Amino acid sequence: MDGSLINLVLSPKQDTFLAFVLGFIIVHEVSYVGGSLFLATIDYFDLCPESKIQKGKYPDKKTIRNCLAVLALNHLVLQPLLLPLIYKAAVLRGMRMNLPLPSLLEVITHVAASLFIYETLFYWGHRAMHHPLLYSRFHKLHHRFYVPVGFSAEYFHPVDNLISNVIPLIAGPLLLGSHMITFWVYTIVRVAEALDSHCGYDFWWSPFRYFPFRPSAEVHDFHHSANTGNYGGMMLIWDWLCGTDAAYKRFLAKKRSN
Ligand SMILES: [Zn+2]
Ligand SMILES: [Zn+2]
Repeated sequence: MDGSLINLVLSPKQDTFLAFVLGFIIVHEVSYVGGSLFLATIDYFDLCPESKIQKGKYPDKKTIRNCLAVLALNHLVLQPLLLPLIYKAAVLRGMRMNLPLPSLLEVITHVAASLFIYETLFYWGHRAMHHPLLYSRFHKLHHRFYVPVGFSAEYFHPVDNLISNVIPLIAGPLLLGSHMITFWVYTIVRVAEALDSHCGYDFWWSPFRYFPFRPSAEVHDFHHSANTGNYGGMMLIWDWLCGTDAAYKRFLAKKRSN
């Protein structure tokens, strides 16, 4: 982004509502759709068979069609309806939307803290979604993908989307009163990690392999294939503390002994 574009987007005279809503939609859609298409290309041409976690397995066409319809609802209808409410909450929390830009140190610390807040809310919200009262009504849809693919990362029932995706995502930047630019940077990291967790590949070049408590994409892939434990998003810290990674540990031990 050059200086004039930053001045245009963050000028005190600009419409902060439009900058917030349109900026988020652009950041979210470019990272999600772009990343999904990149991963779908790898799947379609079978470019990385050696990295595939569930070798030779792919979701059926009916599930993929349903996923695309739900994604259209979440992205084209619910997102524009929710963003004005999130904007109101951001203004109330004093989110900065003008110059000066946040320092690099502020961006890094706020993104790291927001990821931890995300992880905590996601773990408990997601674990609640596995309660029998909630699972069949809301979360079962996401688990139609026994073999996850990139674009299934945001395949949620609207209620599940709110609990497992939207609230954990916005909580950190709102609690911290982050700058709008920091919120966008953090959103890109979150989308990239969600795509990596659902892509079905354990890529050696994935930067998320080096995140603490997050060994590989296999962790969430196991949650989809076995549908037990591993309720965490990008770190296994809560699963480790609560013992909900026991089934995954048994799976790893069996895999190593073969
Ligand atoms: Zn689940
Ligand atoms: Zn999932």
